[in-house]
Amino acid sequence: AKLVKSRPFYPTPKGGTVSSWHEAYSEAAKLVVEMSVPEKVNLTTGIGWSMGPCVGNTGSTKKFGGLCLQDGPTGLRFIDDITAFPAGVTVAATWSKYHMYARGKAYGAEARAKGVNVVLGPCIGPLGRFPVGGRNWEGFGSDPYLQGVASSITIEAIQSEGVIATAKHFIGNEQERFRQLPEAHGQGWPNVTEAISANIGDRTLHELYLWPFAESVRAGVGAIMCSYNQVNNSYACQNSYLLNNVLKDELGFQGFVMSDWLAHHAGVAAALAGMDMTMPGDAISFLDGETYWGGYLTESIVNKTVPIERLDDMALRIVATWIKMGQNIDYPEVSFSSWTKLPEGLVNQGTYEGAMGIVNEFVDVRANHSALAQDIATEGIVLLKNSKIHGNTTSLPIDDTKLPRAIMIFGSDAGPSSIGPNGCVDRGCNNGTLGQGWGSGTVEYTYQITPLEAIQSRLLGKRGARRPTTEYTLDDYDLGRASRLAQTPGAKCFVFVSADSGEAYIDSEGNLGDRNDLYLWHNGDDLITTVAAKCNDTVVVIHSVGAVVMEQWINNPNVTAVLMAHLPAAESGSSLVSVLWGDVSPSGHLPYTIGKSLEDYGPYGDILREPNGPIPQDDFADGLDIDYRYFDANGIEPRFEFGFGLSYTEFEYGNLTIHNVFQGNLTSDPPPPPDKLTPPDMKSKIPKPEDVTFPTDFNRLRNYHYPWITRQQASAVSAMLASDNKTEYPYPTGYETEQQTGFVPGGGGEGGNPSLYDVIFHVDVDLKNVGEKPGKTVPQLYVSFPAGITEYTPLKQLRGFEKIGVGPGESVTVGFDIRRKDISVWDEVGGRGWYIPVAKKKAVGEGFTFWVGQSSRRGGVEGTT
Ligand code: BGC
Ligand code: BGC
Repeated sequence: AKLVKSRPFYPTPKGGTVSSWHEAYSEAAKLVVEMSVPEKVNLTTGIGWSMGPCVGNTGSTKKFGGLCLQDGPTGLRFIDDITAFPAGVTVAATWSKYHMYARGKAYGAEARAKGVNVVLGPCIGPLGRFPVGGRNWEGFGSDPYLQGVASSITIEAIQSEGVIATAKHFIGNEQERFRQLPEAHGQGWPNVTEAISANIGDRTLHELYLWPFAESVRAGVGAIMCSYNQVNNSYACQNSYLLNNVLKDELGFQGFVMSDWLAHHAGVAAALAGMDMTMPGDAISFLDGETYWGGYLTESIVNKTVPIERLDDMALRIVATWIKMGQNIDYPEVSFSSWTKLPEGLVNQGTYEGAMGIVNEFVDVRANHSALAQDIATEGIVLLKNSKIHGNTTSLPIDDTKLPRAIMIFGSDAGPSSIGPNGCVDRGCNNGTLGQGWGSGTVEYTYQITPLEAIQSRLLGKRGARRPTTEYTLDDYDLGRASRLAQTPGAKCFVFVSADSGEAYIDSEGNLGDRNDLYLWHNGDDLITTVAAKCNDTVVVIHSVGAVVMEQWINNPNVTAVLMAHLPAAESGSSLVSVLWGDVSPSGHLPYTIGKSLEDYGPYGDILREPNGPIPQDDFADGLDIDYRYFDANGIEPRFEFGFGLSYTEFEYGNLTIHNVFQGNLTSDPPPPPDKLTPPDMKSKIPKPEDVTFPTDFNRLRNYHYPWITRQQASAVSAMLASDNKTEYPYPTGYETEQQTGFVPGGGGEGGNPSLYDVIFHVDVDLKNVGEKPGKTVPQLYVSFPAGITEYTPLKQLRGFEKIGVGPGESVTVGFDIRRKDISVWDEVGGRGWYIPVAKKKAVGEGFTFWVGQSSRRGGVEGTT
């Protein structure tokens, strides 16, 4: 079969073309112009896995220390005295821009204080196409708009502390399986010959998977990590269409592109395709002592294969980003090692030899962030069910003046792990209460408050208070014991269950990253049904990376309340009790759909589980219809729809008004973008091969990457340059060196054509708290495109949300700005880029319906333009 192909685009557009970065580039040019070729190369090449203190370390130059790059999206991996913030999925479930910003800010402050230059987050790819996708939990739910808002806010907050944020993984890394060849071989697919190819059409790319990256670029993100997988059969880190055309031309990205760890597969091709930094520097495996860049990049410059302008641009992009964040002024030194917990250790751990020194200074950077971490975890708890138990009283909240006779707690997910919360490397096992998924996106807990602990101390903490009978079993499989406890007369029962997933390099209970199915782990369904068979007030608490199937028990009348507590990290128990006891009303909403089965997500709802050829091909034939879009389009009733979440109070929405706020004549196509600024011209000269060789008497560290070439390499290059029969490098199709200046569909500024972000409509809605308690509500605005347009568009798409606290009886008005991009579609074939589709006999912008509801399906009001 013929494989889908990716279009070529050359050369790499230079950085320094937008005004907000102009000064940083001018300053960077002054530094870079002084750098030798090996110095520039040093900026682009990691020194090797675990050679420096961080998970990624670049080489240095005379005036520029190496950069420290550290995971990840939820906090500082491998580092002491830091905060374990709630995971991305939990943050998304808060739907709170305030908390998104606060978390980013606190995280940025911690990173800075530890001396981290670049944090490897936020994670916005995977987008969450597959509910079982292993790394969905690192990101912000299965909707591009939600991901885009959460990521851009997170980036602004992290970077406000002077730390470079990284939007990752670019792009199409929706499943873990087959993401990397060696992994696929190790996991039992020896016949796979290349990593999986995510085959994505241009419209789907723009309207779904690229959307949050575009918003991140618009927010000024400093770094982007290209992913392991291929896209349209070209590796993401050497895909010239994606990096050169989409990211650097159309989206005007001014920062630098780094490879995911070992996602770099070819020296020259990746350089020409627009990659700027190779991480961790090694070629095929960690510490293999080989690299695609380092001395080889230098060689490709002196033998004239890679234009020196490209190297200049790589260096400028890295240095300009560093300057833009202000890291050239008083930036803290790295004061930790990722490789040991002891104060002393090897200075270059990856050499396994050489100098020892003080590598950990144990700088405590946590400040008061535990309170914030608790608040986020609280706001991310979604109340899915809360039925009346007697009279008008609902199961939750618990009333201290009417405590039940007994409280019974069930499930290993309630309590501690017998080996502690960090018992498995990178949280690669599900023992005890689940607070994070697994993989590089996790951090080590400095403490963890379990639900069991928090419930007990809430119940039993007050001196002299009535002590209800409180018992538990943490054994998920001893259903006899569970049944006996559940029979206790007058008991309220809490059953804790979980579902976990993570990154593919760890296998947890047979799940190779992605989940095997959507069921609860550890006998969860049986434990719940066993307890609910005897206990008529059974409260289920779920800690999960995402949707789980709950059909066996969700309608059981004895299951009186269900809470989806997501991944709360350290402040698990504390956040939970504040909701159980009603200190606050639950206010989380689902950032994904909970279906009744995995099949309900459609024919493309599950990952590609077996290779469909030597190069696994994943056609994104579901197009725009993922998650709620699919359920809506196919009339499938979800168990709980996208955006769903109950409260202890009730809200009513009314009075939707639409204001046409666009000044001027609204056209279907955006007006042309402003001209690009001229990037700095470095006028660099190509050095002679013998001028870029290793310094004499240089003592090389084992497996460490250097930017120089050997004397033998230099003579070979000189001989080649002098001879008449030079072999031409096989440049890729479409290769050219002149900067392209033509019309770029959708392009023109940071994040694309600036006009895409013009506000066209403003929508106001009144919200009223009609219940008896204070609470927060999450009005969600969805757009439906005009009837009668020829383009297919999903029935509803999220285009706005807020989180608003409203007191009982009070009303507030909330407003939403609708931008040009929010009502545009991407032209797949005609080359127009984004345009506002227009129905026959209608004016541009006419016929759009804005629907504001309490979920994607409930309690809404609407209006049409
Ligand atoms: C992951 C990245 C991570 C990197 C460094 C990779 O395996 O995919 O998300 O930042 O490792 O640990
Ligand atoms: C490392 C991760 C890395 C992964 C990549 C693990 O051993 O700890 O940082 O992301 O390998 O394959």
